[in-house]
Amino acid sequence: MARRWIWIGLIGLVVALLSAGLAAARVAPPLPPQLPSQLIVSHLSPIQTTAETSLQFLKSLPSGDSDGTSAAKADLQLAQAAPPRQVTALADPSNYGDRYATDIDGRVLHNDFIAVLHETVGSAQSAINLFRTHHPRDQDQVSYHALIGRDGTIYYIVPPEKRAFGAGNSVFNGPNGPETVRTNAAFPPSVNNFAYHVSLETPGDGMNNRRSHSGYTPAQYASLAWLLAQTTIPDSRITTHQAVDRSGSRMDPRSFNGQGFFALLRRYPTRSGLSG
Ligand SMILES: [Zn+2]
Repeated sequence: MARRWIWIGLIGLVVALLSAGLAAARVAPPLPPQLPSQLIVSHLSPIQTTAETSLQFLKSLPSGDSDGTSAAKADLQLAQAAPPRQVTALADPSNYGDRYATDIDGRVLHNDFIAVLHETVGSAQSAINLFRTHHPRDQDQVSYHALIGRDGTIYYIVPPEKRAFGAGNSVFNGPNGPETVRTNAAFPPSVNNFAYHVSLETPGDGMNNRRSHSGYTPAQYASLAWLLAQTTIPDSRITTHQAVDRSGSRMDPRSFNGQGFFALLRRYPTRSGLSG
């Protein structure tokens, strides 16, 4: 089952948090180290954890860089980069829920995970404050699993095994055809049940509804690639809010350099074979 990526991601996260000296201490408690029993799988593959991956990647690089190519330099920079700064900033529990095993009609759900990319439009801090606010009304509840600040800091907001409320009326049109899940009679079906939502902090010139802005920082792209490299979500199941949205109102993430992002992501050895 593809759910093993949760394990892989969580193990990587725990290792990274420990190695980062628990920078998260100033905000919320770290993510729970245990998963619900139904998510525990027996065939967890011996994939490298964060630190090992970085080390292995560094070793695989040519030592001389005699050509001085920009690609080699970029590889080296990527390899030498420590895991991004990570902060746990858990949302209020009203803003997320459990992932459902069946839909509203009782059908058993088998969707593999997708990653959905967003942007905050406001500042990272204002988004975090919003998610930490208790929202008793269903229509006010909102969250991402993770948010990446302009400096590349990754904020963990909703545990990956939980269902974040990142998209409303939405469908993923992927290799397996249209996928969407209805879990609440009061709302249209959405991708939330099988989505991992990641949002990028919008630049200062993008705090508006214009079609484009100056884009995201190299640190944000690097952290996003690092984060998704901790998962086994294939490239073909990494999408955007704009692409899955059916309301016609979502454009995010605007000015996203998909080509550059996937080039970064594919440099991780753990991503080999996941492009399909
Ligand atoms: Zn969005």
